[in-house]
Amino acid sequence: MKSKQLPDNLHRDTLAVRVALEPSQYGENSEALYLTSGFLQPDAETSARRFAGDEEGYTYARTSNPTVTSFERRLAALEGTQAAIGASTGMGAILMMCMGLLKAGDHVVCSRSMFGSTIALIGREFGKFGVETTFVSQTDVNEWKAALRPNTRLLFAETPTNPLTEVCDIAALADLAHGIGALLAVDNCFCTPAMQRPVDFGADLIMHSGTKYLDGQGRVMAGAICGPSRLIVDVFGPIVRTAGMTLAPFNAWVVLKGLETLGIRMRAQSANALAVAQWLETQPGVARVYYPGLASHPQHELAMRQQSGQGGAVLSFDLHGSDAEASRANAFRVINSTQVVSIATNLGDTKTIISHPATTSHGRLSEVQRQAAGIGQGLIRLAVGLDHIDDIKADLLRGLDGIQK
Ligand SMILES: *Cc1c(COP(=O)(O)O)cnc(C)c1O
Repeated sequence: MKSKQLPDNLHRDTLAVRVALEPSQYGENSEALYLTSGFLQPDAETSARRFAGDEEGYTYARTSNPTVTSFERRLAALEGTQAAIGASTGMGAILMMCMGLLKAGDHVVCSRSMFGSTIALIGREFGKFGVETTFVSQTDVNEWKAALRPNTRLLFAETPTNPLTEVCDIAALADLAHGIGALLAVDNCFCTPAMQRPVDFGADLIMHSGTKYLDGQGRVMAGAICGPSRLIVDVFGPIVRTAGMTLAPFNAWVVLKGLETLGIRMRAQSANALAVAQWLETQPGVARVYYPGLASHPQHELAMRQQSGQGGAVLSFDLHGSDAEASRANAFRVINSTQVVSIATNLGDTKTIISHPATTSHGRLSEVQRQAAGIGQGLIRLAVGLDHIDDIKADLLRGLDGIQK
């Protein structure tokens, strides 16, 4: 059945439920899941043309699958890019980007506060292939500028960061990149296109871990790159076909349906996070709250401008403690006293998740590196979900009660 031609200028909430609804001959109103690895070819000639790339048509699911295509089209519409390409995981997408853009002798600048596996992949693994990376301050544009070299090919940023929610100025970094003919890639995992569209500020490529908010219910792994067709189709397409970090059709279907509720989930979870952050600031046992939606956040104004006036759903907070050991004991007490929220390291779920970064996500860093990154033993991260805020507050209060300044 032919799908409707959608009018231009639809709102993002509408795009999220409408783009790439392409019913089969049965006219289904919910996107079909094409759980197949191979595709019948009508004849040898058509098959030959499809393999040669002279005719569109599906051949083998490592290359593409209609359910994956639907997810890619819908995500691209939300991010406002010409195209998108799926990947098996968020890290698979970042690997694909690095393989497509970088060669020996190239240089990359990226923030020191990026996702740990991103730092390990670019700094360590790509270092083996002769790619050099300079890690700079998340928030100091002058440090980014000073790190640029004639062979700088890529600036890679993530905003806000995990777990301290530091925000960088996407427009300023895009200007720096374009001034030297480099590209700016932004990992948009924490905000998603529901609240932040990096292309509107000049970014060239947008990276996603679909595992987080795009799925939104903690079910599958997925990833994607959004950007111009000349890069997505001509550069990254051949890599996913040959290297195989392909998004599985089932996972694509889950995140495709996840996108339908993305806007409403992000608004609700962000509102919950703001309420919890404001409440935490009034708690005597809490030394500091890190959340872009708070006026006390150092990049509050920039965040509100870049993030459609919303802070996002991840916050963290430091507990008082006479020394590192006491702070850790307090943090463990708060975590262990919870009866509702989940103790886990994931985020982007409708279930509120609590974690202790110093001994989990940032546990491989040395104490000196952790200090430099500002990840103390008393720091707790909260990825706020759809639990009622009164239940979240009551849950945190079980352990917070009694911690004094
Ligand atoms: C989780 C995450 C990734 C990696 O995504 P996976 O799907 O786990 O591979 C990349 N960047 C950020 C900011 C993340 O939170």
